[in-house]
Amino acid sequence: MPQALVGCGHNRYSTSTTTFGSVYMILSPAPLFRNSSPPSRFGLIIIYRSHSMREDLLDCLVIGGGPAGLTAALYLARYHLSALVLDHGESRASWIPITHNYPGFPDGVSGKELLNRLRQQARKYGAVIRQDEVVGLARQNGCFDAECSSSTLLRSRTVLLATGVENVRPALSEEVHAQGLARGLLRYCPVCDGFEITDKRVAVLGTGERAFSEAMFLRSYTSSVTLISAQRDHEISADQQERLNLCSIALVPGPCLTIHLLGREIELTVPTGTATFDSLYPALGTKIRSSLARELGVNMSADGCILVDKQQRSSLPGLYAAGDVVYGLDQICGATGQAAMAATSIRNDLCHERQLLRASDAEI
Ligand SMILES: Cc1cc2nc3c(=O)[nH]c(=O)nc-3n(C[C@H](O)[C@H](O)[C@H](O)COP(=O)(O)OP(=O)(O)OC[C@H]3O[C@@H](n4cnc5c(N)ncnc54)[C@H](O)[C@@H]3O)c2cc1C
Repeated sequence: MPQALVGCGHNRYSTSTTTFGSVYMILSPAPLFRNSSPPSRFGLIIIYRSHSMREDLLDCLVIGGGPAGLTAALYLARYHLSALVLDHGESRASWIPITHNYPGFPDGVSGKELLNRLRQQARKYGAVIRQDEVVGLARQNGCFDAECSSSTLLRSRTVLLATGVENVRPALSEEVHAQGLARGLLRYCPVCDGFEITDKRVAVLGTGERAFSEAMFLRSYTSSVTLISAQRDHEISADQQERLNLCSIALVPGPCLTIHLLGREIELTVPTGTATFDSLYPALGTKIRSSLARELGVNMSADGCILVDKQQRSSLPGLYAAGDVVYGLDQICGATGQAAMAATSIRNDLCHERQLLRASDAEI
């Protein structure tokens, strides 16, 4: 396999290549342009032949391998850009026993199966996906340097943050939590699976605005909704209390002492008694996984979501974000749509710096 010599302005990179292919970058003045695209700002042209996974300079480092990161990797790879996905392996999608609202799967699909398919599809076009955690990210000389928990150091022209969010869980062992999810006794997303609890007995665990809104939302699916505080007292305003009363939503003070899975029911105990339900929705909050962006000084919302423009660009040039880590509906469809937009912005922004032109066989 031929090796590539890559020169780029004041940078000059090593000639190492991997088994993924070779890159051919030829610097030349603007007259070499062969299509109607405007010349790049730097008057450079890049003629490339195939995917390259140069460890020393990536086109895009995708942090997070959930639906957003994997969709972006698919698009980037199909744009003939080098995309590396680093994933810590805690996609919320992997919790989904079966989703019925993701289009194209009339009988539903499990989150793990969907992730497998997305990984397979992205790899088919040359994206590389690895299990690793990015623990540090810095911007230097117009590129990003990433440090991983495996001690690997990476350099990339652009970074897409697709790191998602974490749901705050009730105090349950890992095993009981997983069983609860698998059996539909524990649910986290009324938008996703409210339909599945139609006319069933539902409890929402939590208090305050979030839990109140979730209980009200679920009331359109069932007449049996109980709002149970995880702590002792509810933090519900008089107005909210009145609206709950009008909708016949029971308000039960906590704290919630125990949660047990019983066959097809879930049992909750509070100081005043015990009750069983068909499903429990914990509404205890989410932690936004946006610390890498925060350290870079990127603009964020008060609750820690990364703020982006319509093309998924953050306030820091070269840094993009998609999926749950960006404010939105927190759905797979939203994540994949944002990822497609982010990947296309990355491609176009890179192209704006240096026009990408594919080489003919004769040029290789
Ligand atoms: C129980 C449950 C059921 C759901 N059901 C549905 C449904 O039916 N339909 C629907 O549309 N949505 C559903 N959702 C929501 C859906 O799972 C999310 O909207 C979707 O997974 C968001 O995708 P994402 O790629 O943004 O984030 P995620 O899927 O959460 O992926 C983020 C990835 O980034 C990784 N990561 C984070 N930080 C780092 C780092 N520093 N380095 C490397 N990797 C990192 C994480 O480990 C994780 O693997 C459900 C969620 C839950 C919890």
